[in-house]
Amino acid sequence: DGAIRFEDVQFAYDPDRPILKGISFDVPAGKTVAIVGPSGAGKSTISRLLFRFYDVQDGAVTIDGQDVRAVTQESLRAAIGMVPQDTVLFNDTIAYNIRYGRPDATDEEVEKAAEMAQIGPFIEGLPQGFRTMVGERGLKLSGGEKQRVAIARTILKAPPILILDEATSALDTATEQEIQSSLDLVSRGRTTLVIAHRLSTVIGADEIIVLRDGQIAERGRHADLLGIP
Ligand code: ADP
Ligand code: ADP
Repeated sequence: DGAIRFEDVQFAYDPDRPILKGISFDVPAGKTVAIVGPSGAGKSTISRLLFRFYDVQDGAVTIDGQDVRAVTQESLRAAIGMVPQDTVLFNDTIAYNIRYGRPDATDEEVEKAAEMAQIGPFIEGLPQGFRTMVGERGLKLSGGEKQRVAIARTILKAPPILILDEATSALDTATEQEIQSSLDLVSRGRTTLVIAHRLSTVIGADEIIVLRDGQIAERGRHADLLGIP
C-alpha cells in the first residue's frame, strides 16, 4: 500500500532550465528511499510533484499504479504525511496542532502521539493555556520541539506514505539524534521518501538516490555508495 513510482519524470519551473531531466525510481510499499544531493538539485521538487503542487511535464508519478493526476487532492492529502523542514505551528495549543491532521482523534490518542514524539512536558502545560506562538505571550518552542510536534501530528494521522524533509543541519547534535530516532519510529512500516542533506542520516534507507544536475548520478544502499562491497 502506498507504492510510489517516478517514471522518466521531467520537470522545469522555467522552460529554459530543466530541474529534473528524466528521473525514474520506485519506493516499494513500506520501504524507505532517500534522495540526497546538493542544494538546488531538485530534491524538494520531487516531493512537490508527489503532492501535485506541480505536475510533471513528461513521464508520470504514480501511487499504487495510479497516476497522481487522476487522484483527488483530498485523497492525496489523506495518503501523504509530511514532516517538513520548518514546521509552522498554528497559534493554538500543542494538542490542537497535533490533532490538526485528524480532528476526530481522542485526547488519549493525541497524548499517546505526543508521548511517542517525546513532547511530554509540553503537552502537560496545555490545560494552563500555553500557546505555541513564539513571542512574549507564548511558550517559545525550539526548531527541534516544533519538529516533534509535526512528528506527533504524523504519528496520529498515520498516513501510508511519509515524506521526511530532514532539516537537522540547524540543530545541535543531541537534538538531531533525538529527532532522528523519532523519525525512524514514525517511518517504520510506511512507504517513506526522505529528502536528506547528508548521507550519514540515511544509513538505514533501502535505497539512496543521489541527484545531480537533474539526473540520478548514483544509487544504492549506503555501503554501496561508500564503495564498501
Ligand atoms: P533542493 O530541494 O534539492 O534544494 P529544489 O527542488 O528546492 O532543490 O529546487 C531545485 C531548483 O529549482 C533550484 O535551483 C531552485 O532555485 C529552483 N526552484 C525551486 N522552486 C522554484 C519555483 N517555484 N520557481 C522557480 N524555480 C524554483
Ligand atoms: P495536512 O493537514 O494533510 O498536513 P496541509 O494543508 O497542511 O495538509 O498541507 C498538505 C501537506 O503538504 C502538508 O503535509 C505539508 O507539510 C505539505 N507541504 C506544504 N508545503 C510544502 C512544500 N513546499 N513542499 C512540499 N510539501 C509541502
